[in-house]
Amino acid sequence: MAIDLAETAKAKGIRYFLISYTDLFGTQRAKLVPAQAIGEMQKAGASFAGFATWLDMTPADPDVFAVPDPESLIQLPWKPEVGWLAADPWMGGKLVAQAPRNVLKKQIAAAAALGYQMKTGVECEFFLVTPDGKAISDAADYQAKPCYDQSALMRRYDVITEICDAMLSLGWQPYQNDHEDANGQFEMNWHYDDALVTADRHAFFKYMAKSIAEKHGLRATFMPKPFAALTGNGCHAHISLWKDGVNVFEAADGELGVSKLGYHFLGGLLAHAGAFAALTNPTVNSYKRINAPVTRSGATWSPNTISYTGNNRTHMIRIPDAGRFELRLADGAANPYLLQAAILAAGLDGLAKETSPGQRLDLNMYTDGHKVKGARKLPLNLLDALRAFEKSSLLAESLGPEFVTAYARLKMGEWNDYAGHLTEWERAATLDC
Ligand code: ADP
Ligand code: MG
Ligand code: MG
Ligand code: MG
Ligand code: MG
Repeated sequence: MAIDLAETAKAKGIRYFLISYTDLFGTQRAKLVPAQAIGEMQKAGASFAGFATWLDMTPADPDVFAVPDPESLIQLPWKPEVGWLAADPWMGGKLVAQAPRNVLKKQIAAAAALGYQMKTGVECEFFLVTPDGKAISDAADYQAKPCYDQSALMRRYDVITEICDAMLSLGWQPYQNDHEDANGQFEMNWHYDDALVTADRHAFFKYMAKSIAEKHGLRATFMPKPFAALTGNGCHAHISLWKDGVNVFEAADGELGVSKLGYHFLGGLLAHAGAFAALTNPTVNSYKRINAPVTRSGATWSPNTISYTGNNRTHMIRIPDAGRFELRLADGAANPYLLQAAILAAGLDGLAKETSPGQRLDLNMYTDGHKVKGARKLPLNLLDALRAFEKSSLLAESLGPEFVTAYARLKMGEWNDYAGHLTEWERAATLDC
């Protein structure tokens, strides 16, 4: 055992550990374990009734043991006596195949077997709303084009800098914070890292932003489209692939500074986006952010079709710079682990098959997209996305049939729950039929 958590607790003044795993719906489930008991828990894991969380289990299944990864330890900056640990679920002496962090680790191992390491950065947009979740918390934040609004940003100085200071103290190398394109919306950026580190930070960032906002009497939400007329919460992922410390997506002589291998990875992302949208855009609400009508600011900033481009934000994939891609598809509801796993599975398939990404499109997709012949649309709703997801042999092979079956079953249940819900729109459109 490389890191002894009991010793770490003494050295860092940790009184309690949160042994935490992320379930298939992205919810973090935890036990709060006193430091005195961590020795045993580090080896055996903390026990959970799997059925009580979204893991597609039954009440008759044996205990799930969440075994903490000591490398993932983060002391809560706002309560340093607590140490958060990302954990890997086990059951019956085996890793739970459908648990999101395990799914990602399998993809990372597949990449490592080829000598590759994926590095990613995520942009987790969020709104600061009232505690009941119904309105933007700052009544003065009502400009039609509120992006980068200095005054609205500074009215939230206390909460934004508390989160940024936390990232500084954790060594995440944050470098900028801004007001985003919707009223009440913010984004905070930190430096990219290995896919698993970024996934753990992504999970922790969501918990941290919510916790710190709550301290300030606010609520942070990552909901993809909390207000129909405003820009939604994206979670863009920037991607590069490394071998022996070299970014293999970069090529000085390649188109836009991207190597042939990079374009094959990109080809894989384009080929499988229709199928992995169920992971990057996992909720009913997700489909109100993509395929959306123009927002009050003038642009949704989210994609409608499966296309790529250079430094142009109207497509699903943008090449902002030499040696990396930005996948703009994912939203705030994306499971941090499944997001990275989907990217790796699709990208590695592109490498294996040397998939061509086709032509880059250098046009404004929002105004001129209709001129593109054969443009492939993204799924229009969660049901379409789930059907494409279930049909994908690549996802079943790479992410594993247990995972695909479990995820599809739970999400189909969510869709059916939604479909059974009577809405005000139906009443208005149908009452006088
Ligand atoms: P934008 O808003 O222009 O899309 P941001 O600055 O908000 O970009 O976010 C860029 C993200 O991309 C950051 O997390 C950054 O660390 C990350 N990034 C930069 N270079 C790379 C790279 N080579 N590989 C992966 N991620 C990268
Ligand atoms: Mg009990
Ligand atoms: Mg950004
Ligand atoms: Mg943004
Ligand atoms: Mg971006």
